[in-house]
Amino acid sequence: MSSTKSLLILAGDGIGPEVMAQVKRVIAWFEGNRGLKFKVEDGLVGGCSYDAHGTPLTDETMAKAMEADAVLLGAVGGPKWDNLDFSVKPERGLLRLRKDMQLFANLRPAFVFEALAEASSLKTELVAGLDIMIVRELTGGVYFGEPRGIETLPNGERRGINTQVYTTSEIVRIAEIAFELARKRGKKLHSVEKANVMESGLLWREEVTKLKDAKHKDIHLEHMYADNCAMQLVRNPKQFDVIVTDNLFGDILSDCAAMLTGSLGMLPSASLGAADSAGRRKALYEPVHGSAPDIAGRDIANPLACLLSFAMMLRYSFDLGFEADLLENAIKAVLDDGIRTGDIMQPGMTKVSTTGMGDAVLARLNG
Ligand code: NAD
Repeated sequence: MSSTKSLLILAGDGIGPEVMAQVKRVIAWFEGNRGLKFKVEDGLVGGCSYDAHGTPLTDETMAKAMEADAVLLGAVGGPKWDNLDFSVKPERGLLRLRKDMQLFANLRPAFVFEALAEASSLKTELVAGLDIMIVRELTGGVYFGEPRGIETLPNGERRGINTQVYTTSEIVRIAEIAFELARKRGKKLHSVEKANVMESGLLWREEVTKLKDAKHKDIHLEHMYADNCAMQLVRNPKQFDVIVTDNLFGDILSDCAAMLTGSLGMLPSASLGAADSAGRRKALYEPVHGSAPDIAGRDIANPLACLLSFAMMLRYSFDLGFEADLLENAIKAVLDDGIRTGDIMQPGMTKVSTTGMGDAVLARLNG
């Protein structure tokens, strides 16, 4: 990758453009103060693209996403587009990005900033210092398996069918990412399935074990059934470091883990594709939250999830761990200073706007 990093920004709908504006200020800071060079292009996705072009994602924007070193997305959707045909709904733009870029690995960190530990529905001591990474397989399993559909049986009863299916290569490529992440973190990996009742789970367990024995002996691997994992996440979440699991279980467990942290406005995510011969992976970074139409346009949304998504980009697409730490530590310091947007406001703290939160992060970056 050249030293200039090409970045496609798709701010999207609702609060997307507001939170993204703060990311752009931080990008400018890194260019001015850390010598990073970004070639930033803006594009449309979601409802705003439908309004301009009649489609939630144009072929031209899709081509730019394929070319870019990384894509950063805000959020899509809103009531204005709720009644559109399924084929042009804002979410279709996001689904096309994930599909065409073949983003099979969804990284969902769930960490709790000390200053926000009280916002969790769990006891503070259970979540303070929590730092879990859930790696969810995103393009296979029961959401895509064939056969699928609804059929009418000879007796007139109807039957709904979905198929849970995984191949060796699908399991190995997602497990490989999880082992690599575990190596950079606490060297502990939980692989989660239902090998007790599902053959696809049994294959999953066997392939993950084989991969550990072949390449990752230094990582502590534990297998866990998905139902137990759900219980353990709310009983003792700090026992986990990295969790790797399939599409369906990952969907549920990552939302469960997210809620341990107490606020949607704080949660980033990354979706990664296969590495090319130069080691470059296609990558899409986005906050977990949606377009929050109820608060859009009022400069009150929390921009931290989007800023933390940019930090993930620095770390995973550009190998800029030091810079990612700088940004994450600036955010931590701002929270320790008692600065809060409305969604994470607590008694005695200072309430700021979206722009005010951007100001505070920049002030901390400046030292
Ligand atoms: P949402 O995440 O947009 O909002 C849920 C609640 O959390 C709202 O009360 C909102 O005000 C609040 N919230 C969310 N992000 C916040 C932030 N950064 N700061 C402060 N408060 C925040 O979910 P929803 O209301 O179910 O969906 C709204 C729209 O977003 C829908 O059209 C939905 O389809 C879309 N959506 C998009 C994505 C995405 O783009 N990835 C994800 C989820 C939902």
